[in-house]
Amino acid sequence: MSVRAGIVVTGTEVLTGRITDQNGPWLSEELLELGVDVAHITICGDRPGDLTAQLRFLAEQQVDLIVTSGGLGPTADDLTVATVAEFCGRELLLDPALEEHIAAIIQRWRGVGFDVDSGPTRTGIRKQALVPVGAAPVPPTGTAPGVVIPAAAGVPTIVVLPGPPGELQAMWPTAISTAAVADVLSRADDLRQATIRAYGLLEAELAETLRSAETAVPDFDRLEITTCLRRGELDMVTRFAAADAPVYDALLELLVEHHGRQIFSTDGSTIDDQLVTALGGRLISTAESCTGGLVAARLTDRPGSSAYVMGGVVSYSNDAKSDLLDVPAELIATHGAVSVEVAAAMAEGALTRFGTDVAVSTTGVAGPGGGTETKPVGTVCFGVALRDRPTVTVTRRFPGDRERVRSLTTTAALHLVVRSLAATTSALEER
Ligand code: ATP
Ligand code: MG
Repeated sequence: MSVRAGIVVTGTEVLTGRITDQNGPWLSEELLELGVDVAHITICGDRPGDLTAQLRFLAEQQVDLIVTSGGLGPTADDLTVATVAEFCGRELLLDPALEEHIAAIIQRWRGVGFDVDSGPTRTGIRKQALVPVGAAPVPPTGTAPGVVIPAAAGVPTIVVLPGPPGELQAMWPTAISTAAVADVLSRADDLRQATIRAYGLLEAELAETLRSAETAVPDFDRLEITTCLRRGELDMVTRFAAADAPVYDALLELLVEHHGRQIFSTDGSTIDDQLVTALGGRLISTAESCTGGLVAARLTDRPGSSAYVMGGVVSYSNDAKSDLLDVPAELIATHGAVSVEVAAAMAEGALTRFGTDVAVSTTGVAGPGGGTETKPVGTVCFGVALRDRPTVTVTRRFPGDRERVRSLTTTAALHLVVRSLAATTSALEER
């Protein structure tokens, strides 16, 4: 890939983990879309020396573009513009038009009675209106303007943006349309990114197929492949130049040939997306024991989910299973709370109580205690009740600690619903 970039996220609050960085990943994704390969994301606190060190490092790596986030506020600890200007050997000049622009914004925010000329306010505004010589200001969406400093001897083009994610994102289109950034982007490849998602596929199995692809797929080495295991699913993200799309297509064909049963998405859609599609307007409810509402939370994560999620019951105790979901107490006594019989009854209870077309249940041993010889920690029974169709049940055994078991159970429940709705009941046993 021809054009490379580095991202420097500044802010002691990010460095210490008090807030989670949103800007690095967002910028990275945007740059990728523009055909720019992000080589590094670095994080430093609000110390000028540390920021300078990271700029120096990225310049030494010969990136074509650096984007910084944070440290553009009016206060003395916001030092990014001054530090970057010094790094570039450029003086700071007051931009009077920018000063008035910021003053007008503050006046609007604070109301007519507010005096923008009072000492500290005016000082802050002036500080934010300082622009390195030869740089292009990026008008603020909050109060902090950004700047774009064109490349010069040994220093790449640098885009300086504010920390608040909403401001940074709103200013990005203007930043990339400046002459200096447009020049960098004009040299970028037309890059594509494609995602395949698989469930029930081991990383080692995928690795073996990818090894065989090295010989089976011509020009395979032109694809940049990363795999990532997440919530029990295996995601494979491939990046390639637009011209190499046929190479990717050949790989995709090979993968589907080998792992067609496990690959559930080749268009980037998630199981959550597919569940909504599979529902096709039908209504769903949940009956959860060991997941304590995680399945319902996952279903209602999506905006608009009120159209098809009717509700759920967290029936953690046996009494709750009987009282709220009409699971016969004898059934629990006979088979145990973690059993396919109880899972089926829970799902059917939810289906009836909520009047839905589909209901899914989970009951299992999340651990660390509670495991037995026959039902060790990680054993989970699922039920999917469908209106006018036999209830589907499955027992799975998941590895890991309590958190992992609950997370894997939640993902499994969604897959089970999608599979059940697809009515391939026989395939269910395979998973
Ligand atoms: P301001 O004028 O708001 O001070 P700024 O450019 O100086 O703008 P910072 O002081 O670095 O921005 O950050 C302000 C706030 O924005 C932070 O307290 C935090 O809530 C949010 N923020 C900053 N950087 C990030 C980031 N990388 N990811 C998520 N949120 C961030
Ligand atoms: Mg600040």
